[in-house]
Order: sequence, then structure tokens, then C-alpha cells
Amino acid sequence: MARRDYYEVLGVPRTATQEEIKKAYRELVKKWHPDRHRANKKEAEERFKEIQEAYEVLSDPEKRAQYDRFGYVGVPGTGEQTSWSPHETIFEDFFGDLGDIFDMFFGTSRASSRRRTKRRRTGENIELAVTVALEDVIKGKSVPVEYERYITCDVCNGTGAEPGTGRRTCPRCGGTGVVREEKRTFFGVFVNTYTCPTCGGEGEVIEKSCRKCGGSGRVKERRRINVRVPPGVEDGARLRIRGGGHAGIGGGDYGDLYITVRVRQKPGFERKGDDLYTTVVIDHLQAALGTHIDVETPDGKETLRIPPGTQPDTVFRLRGLGVPNLASGKRGDLYVKVKVEIPKPGRREATALKEVARMRGLKLDEQ
Ligand SMILES: [Zn+2]
Ligand SMILES: [Zn+2]
Repeated sequence: MARRDYYEVLGVPRTATQEEIKKAYRELVKKWHPDRHRANKKEAEERFKEIQEAYEVLSDPEKRAQYDRFGYVGVPGTGEQTSWSPHETIFEDFFGDLGDIFDMFFGTSRASSRRRTKRRRTGENIELAVTVALEDVIKGKSVPVEYERYITCDVCNGTGAEPGTGRRTCPRCGGTGVVREEKRTFFGVFVNTYTCPTCGGEGEVIEKSCRKCGGSGRVKERRRINVRVPPGVEDGARLRIRGGGHAGIGGGDYGDLYITVRVRQKPGFERKGDDLYTTVVIDHLQAALGTHIDVETPDGKETLRIPPGTQPDTVFRLRGLGVPNLASGKRGDLYVKVKVEIPKPGRREATALKEVARMRGLKLDEQ
């Protein structure tokens, strides 16, 4: 499916400020929220998703710069590992949880249920980097990655409570989730209320902490996955692996894993888009008389014919030996520039060369 331009999706110019982007997003997300479109729910969902995705990229200066430069961020559609559904995270940034959305649209108060879900939080994202060789970019590569993350505790299922024990009303706030503090001063009584630090506003505390996770609901694991680096990837591209981050808190979703791909430079090669550039050095006699030389390419050695009378800095093109295009998969070309070396001849060489020069009628210094 063709992706629409993110700026077009949000209806803002490419020069839009972060404020303008945020404003456009807020309006669009309200307009297209699927709960407001019961009749054309499918279309609304699509639009909604598209808006989320555009916002996720354009609201992040780093991702936006990458998008402006390359026309994409991360690499969509390259296997099951990488996917694009920034939904929940953004959602939470703006609205806390879904309860707030309903409040906003329908004016119903959900204060009580919201207090309960407040603790539900998406897990943190994890950032990693992998380095691949230029050759790996030609075919794509599966890179094993090992990292540590929090997963949901399997003893308490993330609740933090020892199995068989329950929760009890918070002793500090008596279940209200807030603590009231009264201060009597000369001017009158000041009442200060704040979220209960003991229960975090939940109104309940765990009776007995889980023996495995100590009440946090999460435990560490070392994880090994294979990351598919797609052919043609640019240095600095970011892959997103949905749900590859830390476990959520209180039954919240897993965060995401972001992997920055670093492409190691190949000595003697320069990459410009899908094309590669390299240089070879030949002797002036080879340039004059013609020869076949071996040229190093990402696919191994290739034979290049140097025709007689080749001029210095002539560039030969080896078709299809460049880097694949990320979108089309079609490979670019390898350009080989020929440098011509003119060494000082030895005594016997000079004699032979003088003979050639005489045949061509060239003026030389007499010795
Ligand atoms: Zn546990
Ligand atoms: Zn409390």
C-alpha cells in the first residue's frame, strides 16, 4: 500500500513548526477518532492510524529530519519483526488513557475508573544499535541481537502480589488515593491535596509482595532475537520492533525496541544513494596499450577491460554492482575511476621508451 506523505496527512506545510504540527494532530485525532464514526468505522480507523503514524514521525525532530532526508523512518514492511503501529504510545502521551478520551467527547465523568487504571503504563522503549558490513546491505542480513529487558513476572502475572494473597485498602489514604494536608496559618486554613505516595493513587496496596519480583511485577530476562536488516538500508536507519521493549506496569503493553543500523564503511568505496564509487590505479603503459584488470566489488573480484588509449580519470560503469534500492530492490551501479601512474623509467626502460618516442617524432632532451 502506498504511504501518503506525512505532511499531507496532517495537512501542514513542510515548514510547519512543532506547535502547528501538534495543533493539526489534536484536531485531526478528535475528528477521526473511530468512536465518533460508527457508520464508516473502517475508514476512520485507517485515517486515525495514518494520523498517528504521521504525528509520531513529525513530532520527533530527529525522526522528522530523517523523514525529510530519506522519505522514510525505520523500514516498513520488512518482515514480521518490524512493524508500524505507534498507536498506544502516542495515545497515552496525549490523553493518559482511554477514559480521558471519553470524557473529552461525551462529557461523562470516569474519575473513579480512571484512578484504577492510572497505574497501567506502557513499558519503556529500548534503543540498540547493530553494525553491518556494506556487503550485508546488498543481500540483507539476519543479525543476532542479545539484550536485557523486563518481562512480566510469571509468578504474580505482573500484579506484584504473592499468589493467594490479595490487596487491601491503603492505610495511608484510606482508599481515596489522595492525601489531604491542612495548614493553619494567620490568613486561614490552607488545604493541600496530593496523590498518596504509599499506593501511588490507587487506594489499594499489595498485602504481601511477590517473592519473585519483590512487588514490581517485572523480572529481568536476557533475550536473543534475530533482526532482519533489509537490503539497501542506509546508515543510521532505525528499525522498530513492536513489543520488543520492557514489559508494561500493571498489565500495560510492552514498549518497543528500536534498532539503529550502522553500515560500516568499506575501505576504498564510497556510497552515494544506490551507487558505489571506487578507484583503481594502472600503469601508463597499460592505459596506452590496453589490458584487463581485476576490480574489487561488493560481489567479489570482477574483470574490467581497459581499452587501448584509456585517458587518466576515465570512469567505467559496472552495471548492477551497486546497492539495492530500499523500495524497488533494484541494484545501483559501481563506478570505477581509473588513475594512471607514470613511474620514472629505469635505464633500460628509458632506452626502449626513447625508441617509441623517436617513432612518434617527439622532441626529447638529449642526454
Ligand atoms: Zn511477581
Ligand atoms: Zn494510598
